[in-house]
Amino acid sequence: MDPRRRVPRTDAVLADPRLAAAVERLGRPAVKDAVVRAQQRVRQGEIEPEDVADVALAALPPNATSLRPVINMTGVLLHTNLGRAPLSPAAVEAVTVAAGATDVEFDLTTGARARRGRGAVEALARAVPDAEGVHVVNNNAAALVLAATVLAAGREIVISRGELVEIGDGFRIPDLLVSTGARLREVGTTNRTTLADYRDVIGPQTGFVLKVHPSNFRVEGFTGSVEVAELTGLGVPVVVDIGSGLLARDPLLPEEPDAASVLRAGADLVTASGDKLLGGPQAGLLLGRRDLVERLRRHPLARALRVDKLTLAALEATLRGPEPPVRQALHADPIVLGERAEALAKALCRAGVDAAAVSAEATVGGGGAPGVGLPSVAVSLPERLAAPLRRGEPPVVGRVEGGRLLLDLRAVPPDRDGEVLAAVLKATS
Ligand SMILES: *Cc1c(COP(=O)(O)O)cnc(C)c1O
Repeated sequence: MDPRRRVPRTDAVLADPRLAAAVERLGRPAVKDAVVRAQQRVRQGEIEPEDVADVALAALPPNATSLRPVINMTGVLLHTNLGRAPLSPAAVEAVTVAAGATDVEFDLTTGARARRGRGAVEALARAVPDAEGVHVVNNNAAALVLAATVLAAGREIVISRGELVEIGDGFRIPDLLVSTGARLREVGTTNRTTLADYRDVIGPQTGFVLKVHPSNFRVEGFTGSVEVAELTGLGVPVVVDIGSGLLARDPLLPEEPDAASVLRAGADLVTASGDKLLGGPQAGLLLGRRDLVERLRRHPLARALRVDKLTLAALEATLRGPEPPVRQALHADPIVLGERAEALAKALCRAGVDAAAVSAEATVGGGGAPGVGLPSVAVSLPERLAAPLRRGEPPVVGRVEGGRLLLDLRAVPPDRDGEVLAAVLKATS
């Protein structure tokens, strides 16, 4: 009989113990889909009927998410399109713990309800002792929306024209603020704003003064802006969006504002992201005066911006645990990066690949420190390898510069060099 007419029945194939196990892991639709596609190939005479289970098995996705883990060799430490900060192993473990039923909002001693995510809140308070109050929301944009809603709806937010920032993908902080019902009172010019500019517009209609860190651009030349410490004398709350989530000063990034310094300078409230230089999960941090933080925390909108238990667990582990990958990448020694790149290039050359270790410049990314170059080292390869590497397993994403593909090592943990080598060898074969 024509093998094309001996297509095994779907139920019979799904009874294969290996496929039954896959159903447990991936869900029935994904497995059935793979079986149906294998059956189709039998009908087209491409495979034998008895191979349907094996072929379906080989075509199954590795897990139930379509997200693929990528090796970030772009030289951009915080790449928004690649999910910003990678979590530390401690944070990943915390997420697994939190995934089940947990005491996220429950006191196991008394059996009563407890403050949600108090572990993360306590860790944050301990990391920033200058903050009397702390609260965590979904992201920094949410933190700004909450502050604007509670402190300035129907009133004015005073902001310098030099700080009207577009954060990416067409989203703009001024639009975000206005969406809450607050009005913007723009002061100064693109390049220069003085204390008098602020003072001239402060009045009963002022909700707060907002300072936004220009985290993804730099203005140079005839410029001037007003320090937080000077703004605190205006008699209205000063809210500072520091962007990157640096909690304390980092000597490597002298221009990057940090929460502790800004609070010490007198800011009433600081907002920041969790998944930029802090190196944690997507989250919005609110730090500052206890009364203001409490008002924000008790506002109905706070419930809509409430952060997930997985995030709380990852944030706590990031704050308490070992140095997260972004911080390691930021402080990686260029000499060690050079040795790693040399070793990779040498192994590739031995395999006949046109590879060389070259010095490169990495950046923090849209998440902070605009214009700051971090000395780095890359493996330079023929440009035509970019697509096969991107489509490989695991996908490796580099950057093309001057007709070469550069695989920058700064954002790659050293224990992954073997995978990089294997990926390049596979892409060239
Ligand atoms: C990144 C950034 C934001 C947005 O933060 P999200 O956590 O992505 O919502 C807001 N303000 C500044 C200054 C930023 O750098």
